[in-house]
Amino acid sequence: MQELSVDYVVIGSGPAGQKAAIQAAKLGKSVVVVEQDSHPGGASLNSGTIPSKSLREAILALTDFYERSFYGKDHLKRTISINDLNYRLHKVLDEQRRIILHQFEKNKIQLICGTARFKDDHHVEIVDQEDEVIACIESHFFLIATGSKPRNPMNLPFDNQVILDSTRLLQIDHLPKTLIVLGGGIIGSEYASFFAALGTEVTVVDKRDHLLPLLDIEIGLHLQQALTNIGLKVVGKKQPESITRNNNHVEVRFTDGSILQAEMLLYALGREANVNHLHIGNAGITLSPKGYIPVNALFQTRVPHIYAAGDVIGGPALAATGMEQGRLAARHAFGVQTHHFPTFYPIGIYTIPEISSCGYTEEELKQLGFRYAVGRAYYYEIARNQIIGNDPGMFKILFHEETLEILGIHIIGRAATEVIHIGQVAMSFNAKIDYFIDQVFNYPTYAEGYRIAALNGFNKVKHKK
Ligand SMILES: Cc1cc2nc3c(=O)[nH]c(=O)nc-3n(C[C@H](O)[C@H](O)[C@H](O)COP(=O)(O)OP(=O)(O)OC[C@H]3O[C@@H](n4cnc5c(N)ncnc54)[C@H](O)[C@@H]3O)c2cc1C
Repeated sequence: MQELSVDYVVIGSGPAGQKAAIQAAKLGKSVVVVEQDSHPGGASLNSGTIPSKSLREAILALTDFYERSFYGKDHLKRTISINDLNYRLHKVLDEQRRIILHQFEKNKIQLICGTARFKDDHHVEIVDQEDEVIACIESHFFLIATGSKPRNPMNLPFDNQVILDSTRLLQIDHLPKTLIVLGGGIIGSEYASFFAALGTEVTVVDKRDHLLPLLDIEIGLHLQQALTNIGLKVVGKKQPESITRNNNHVEVRFTDGSILQAEMLLYALGREANVNHLHIGNAGITLSPKGYIPVNALFQTRVPHIYAAGDVIGGPALAATGMEQGRLAARHAFGVQTHHFPTFYPIGIYTIPEISSCGYTEEELKQLGFRYAVGRAYYYEIARNQIIGNDPGMFKILFHEETLEILGIHIIGRAATEVIHIGQVAMSFNAKIDYFIDQVFNYPTYAEGYRIAALNGFNKVKHKK
């Protein structure tokens, strides 16, 4: 058994753990990362962000999705197989894993493969798959970055062929002709749109009557229309009662007595924190009622030298936010200047079409009593969009009616997850809506949508100034 004493132990090698470990190493600290999976990178790299986004790009490219508006949806007769998609996916995964290992090596971060559990608040032991202790590490500071996993009911007979969650979906050996997606949250909606783009008959079922309730309602309606146009069906106000596999198909019975059948089912009804093997009670930490690790604004648990970041602390549960939380936690632990987690950060949803937003929704502004105005630009007004595919989409900018300060930006359509950052930066400098009017933007670009939306909004309020 290995015995070690280091400055920093990071449990989990996902985005939060990686960025924390690298930050600590850059500060000259001795760092160990413990990872129970045989591959580094966490759910983000191995079953979440990177695989899903790689599959999305592969689907868009192989189906010539963006050419459909020019040549019709049947112009490409090529049959796409799961092997075509996996070929591209594995190239990305292999490269990303190689980069992480290289970064750890370059920064002299020791990666230990095994499951970490606390012995007390200054010691973790690492066990192998047979539960044999292979190492014991003493440390001044810890970061728990153990992430999350699909919240699956115990009695549901998951397999890698018919009844799937987002991790098992990556194991399928053929593409289904029909698919039921249970859950219209981010993961369910993204995969539903990918399969619909591939030509699978997809039905999304949710207890609410529309997808993605976190969205600004107008953007949500726009999405619903775009998804209907690619053949996706949304069935709302339904709760599953039983899910059974009959040979090569799945049957879902709902509480209202209705039944749906399909070749595959994706169960996407939420995720839960990975805390099972940590023995966090030994370190003096208890979980929140929802099963997450409670932290303060500096990402400290109730034991100040033990921090937690990423999905294990709950929302927003994005790779993007986890990375920054991990970095900030490490900076605070080692006493270097840091800042608070940004108030506004972008949320990217990679449905087809993609969506990104930053700041308040219109519904939130109403609830908070803001006096706001709205500027809109539709993608059909943007020359770049006609040139590369005439896709549906819109920019929506919410701003204060009197001060003109930008309060929220919502974009749906191609390039939304990239161009959102222009608005995010403007918001972080408290920009007003006329900022976009006074700038010259490259033409033709999607970014031009900001000017069009700003002019549209500004013209509605200028007579009042
Ligand atoms: C299908 C899907 C799509 C997504 N798409 C996006 C997206 O487009 N953009 C985005 O920003 N986010 C996306 N996310 C969310 C993103 O993947 C997560 O927010 C992110 O992975 C969380 O990072 P993390 O570091 O907290 O944990 P994780 O990435 O979950 O990593 C935690 C690691 O800890 C390890 N671990 C757990 N317990 C122990 C233990 N006791 N000892 C040792 N190791 C342990 C696990 O094996 C795992 O490797 C997506 C998620 C899914 C599932």
